[in-house]
Amino acid sequence: MLVSMPATTQSPPQGDRNPGSQSALRELNRQRVISSLLGSGPLTQAELARQTGLSTATVFNIVKMMLASGSIETQPTTSSGRRALLVRLRNNGAVAVGVDFGRRHLRIVIVTLGFEVVAEQHVELPIGHRAEASLDRASQLLSGMLEEQNIPPAAVLGVGVGIPGPIDRRTGTVVQGAILPEWVGIHLNDLEKPLNFPVVFDNDANLGALAEVTWGTHNTVKNLVFVKIGSGIGAGLILDGHPFSGNFGITGEIGHQTIADNGIPCHCGNRGCLETVASTSAMMALLGTRAPVTTSDIIRNALAGDAATLRVMDDAGAAIGRGLASIANLINPEVIVIGGPLASLGQILLAPITRGLLRHAVPSVGEATRLVMSSLGDRAEALGAASLVLQSPGLLRG
Ligand SMILES: [Zn+2]
Repeated sequence: MLVSMPATTQSPPQGDRNPGSQSALRELNRQRVISSLLGSGPLTQAELARQTGLSTATVFNIVKMMLASGSIETQPTTSSGRRALLVRLRNNGAVAVGVDFGRRHLRIVIVTLGFEVVAEQHVELPIGHRAEASLDRASQLLSGMLEEQNIPPAAVLGVGVGIPGPIDRRTGTVVQGAILPEWVGIHLNDLEKPLNFPVVFDNDANLGALAEVTWGTHNTVKNLVFVKIGSGIGAGLILDGHPFSGNFGITGEIGHQTIADNGIPCHCGNRGCLETVASTSAMMALLGTRAPVTTSDIIRNALAGDAATLRVMDDAGAAIGRGLASIANLINPEVIVIGGPLASLGQILLAPITRGLLRHAVPSVGEATRLVMSSLGDRAEALGAASLVLQSPGLLRG
């Protein structure tokens, strides 16, 4: 089965005597609408107009035309309390795959062009897992999922991969500082061979940020910071509506911001980093002195009101809030989203982070920055990886 993208399935309307004029313009506008829907996920007509820069009347006409041709579908929704129509690309059989590797897990999602998850799997991986073995595991898992859903390999546009470590875009390799030291030096090519599909990859926090503006409730937000608190701490940035990758891709390394000058050594080579006091690994070390504790134990104990766990959570939150204050002062985001396994703690963690942020940020910035837990939970990074595929024109045209 060959699957082509909606962008190429339909030629511009034929029969126009002057192809350079109306029909060409209409086709150009249609492509802009498709790009927006792939780049941001389903949008209302008003949001589409804002994103594409087209007038609402033009968007209305394109939506009508695309509805008639069957390339999109709409669904009633509410936007700012008003009735609106949510527009999404219709499932044409093509899928994007998102794979998220963590220190102890692997998650795979298969999604349609309309941002619907058709399959999802999550498996535990051993601590210290090596790239080769884990990529083989991912490949097998993905083959099984595709088979189960009757999706032919030709329908897979590409695989997006999230890795918990910094990636140097100049060389396309995972570099020092990764919380998976076994993966340092891994190159994009090393992923493509075992996965057997075109691959795009990025740092997991960057993908979390991308997921928030494509799958989350923030798809019209221009400036967003996604903070992943897990075995490590990292941030992904959306600036002026676009993922920010800096000079060569290593951005948002807030986990390695110095919090305590004479603190304990960090795996990055520095000491007293935020990660050494506020990551789940740090919490496990602090709370596991008598008997080892897991992240699930920490969450359960915090929700049960265990005093020691709440104290550790409060200190960690305040330190994270302080770290976030510098970022908020620098970029003045509308929203900071907290992701990772602790997102289910809600106010227990959000309250001390808010306190830290308000205490250390410029007052007007601190007060205006919305601080929320991710609504995507542990799926954010895998969903963001799938979004990365949908936003990669090279893969889509391939
Ligand atoms: Zn560090």
